[in-house]
Amino acid sequence: MNSHTFISTRGQAPAADFAEVLLAGLAPDGGLYLPEAWPQFGEDELAAFQRLSYQEAAYRVLSRFTGPSFAQDELRAAIAAAYAGFDAPEIAPLSPLGEGRYLLELFHGPTLAFKDIALQVLGQLFSRALARRGGRATIVAATSGDTGSAAIAALGGLPNIDVFVMHPLGRVSEVQRRQMTTSPHANVHNIALEGSFDDAQSIVKALFADADFAAKVGLTAVNSINFARIAAQSVYYITATAALGKPATFIVPTGNFGDIFAGEAASRMGLAVERLVIATNANDIMARALNDGVYASGDARPTLSPSMDIQVASNFERALFEAADRDAAWTAAAMNDFARDKRLVLPPTVLSALRSRYSAFAKDDAATLEAIKAVHDQTGRIIDPHTAVGVAAARDLKDAPGPVVILSTAHPAKFPDAVARAIGAAPPVPERLRGLETKPERVETLPRNLSLIRDFISSRLGA
Ligand SMILES: *Cc1c(COP(=O)(O)O)cnc(C)c1O
Repeated sequence: MNSHTFISTRGQAPAADFAEVLLAGLAPDGGLYLPEAWPQFGEDELAAFQRLSYQEAAYRVLSRFTGPSFAQDELRAAIAAAYAGFDAPEIAPLSPLGEGRYLLELFHGPTLAFKDIALQVLGQLFSRALARRGGRATIVAATSGDTGSAAIAALGGLPNIDVFVMHPLGRVSEVQRRQMTTSPHANVHNIALEGSFDDAQSIVKALFADADFAAKVGLTAVNSINFARIAAQSVYYITATAALGKPATFIVPTGNFGDIFAGEAASRMGLAVERLVIATNANDIMARALNDGVYASGDARPTLSPSMDIQVASNFERALFEAADRDAAWTAAAMNDFARDKRLVLPPTVLSALRSRYSAFAKDDAATLEAIKAVHDQTGRIIDPHTAVGVAAARDLKDAPGPVVILSTAHPAKFPDAVARAIGAAPPVPERLRGLETKPERVETLPRNLSLIRDFISSRLGA
């Protein structure tokens, strides 16, 4: 058993190495990949991360997963290239918010949201792995806003790759949409779907399930189901803890459960974590699952934090698999039940395993606006509405042990309307976003229809 061989949560896929997992995304049995065994870091080793650059920290973590798939200098070069365009030398700096609370700033990459931290690495590794394997790859990603632009920033212009990004029409902020649709690269294709994010996600799943089509176009996924993203995101839990010098409670604005599962991954690698707090908006499937013991999806409702407007949290499957002591047969059956009934009652042992690690709070738009205003009144700082959901959840925590670290997942300038509603003025526009409103947009609006979308992709590829 090692940490660079990967198994599926549904137990019916052959073991795969890191490069295969990277290029495949989803396992062929419909499950999600996890390492056969988590790598282990000792206490001293983790404390020593405090003296390392972020890039070196990322190398030490990722190399345990990549194993023989990438040579040492190849991985180091990929990480260096990935973070070269960030505008903070610490990559993921911590900043105090008062009263033992900190923001972990994850928005210093090219598209100003935390998705860049993993997707920039993934893009670098992807092009190297693809060059070795040969052939072309087609990436299809569903986005609730930020994944799409981060994938486009990471993959636009790379050879042998086409990127199709599907966002729910009218349900992403204007800045988010323009960040995607103004890409100058010919290998970038935007689809505005007449439906919700969950509709987009289920169309992506259906495209993968169409084996002929998937093979014909070399289909792959960079959504947060790709384990490489989880691995890259686990790094900042470790660097933040090392910087604080003690175990923290992490509050994570949550949608698809990828970012917070990276916290579980860090903890399974040996990091001491006080608690992982799921903060959702009114789309509270994860809060209900934890608090009521029933994982049941409803209709996604548009909110001020659109990147979390999700009713199916794909990565929760990984947490369920772990909470069930890696019982793949149970996980596969549970996910099938959920796909059929849109509802899954969590068995008591699974629920108590989840509750020993996670707490959950749901915060609506009113609480989001209030949190933006309160932070601004108290500190002069402007936070984005996703971070604000985390800040609002932090207020519900009674006597959190250790420092409280709220993951600040986006820059406020991506969501100027919400910020203006809260504090009466839009945030200043950073350099990276200037000029977006005058660039031409390229986007195809399509109905929620699998075969039309399949045809669109084929015709763009000339396949
Ligand atoms: C994607 C995203 C989230 C949710 O992260 P998940 O990994 O999907 O739980 C939160 N905030 C922002 C700004 C995001 O882009």
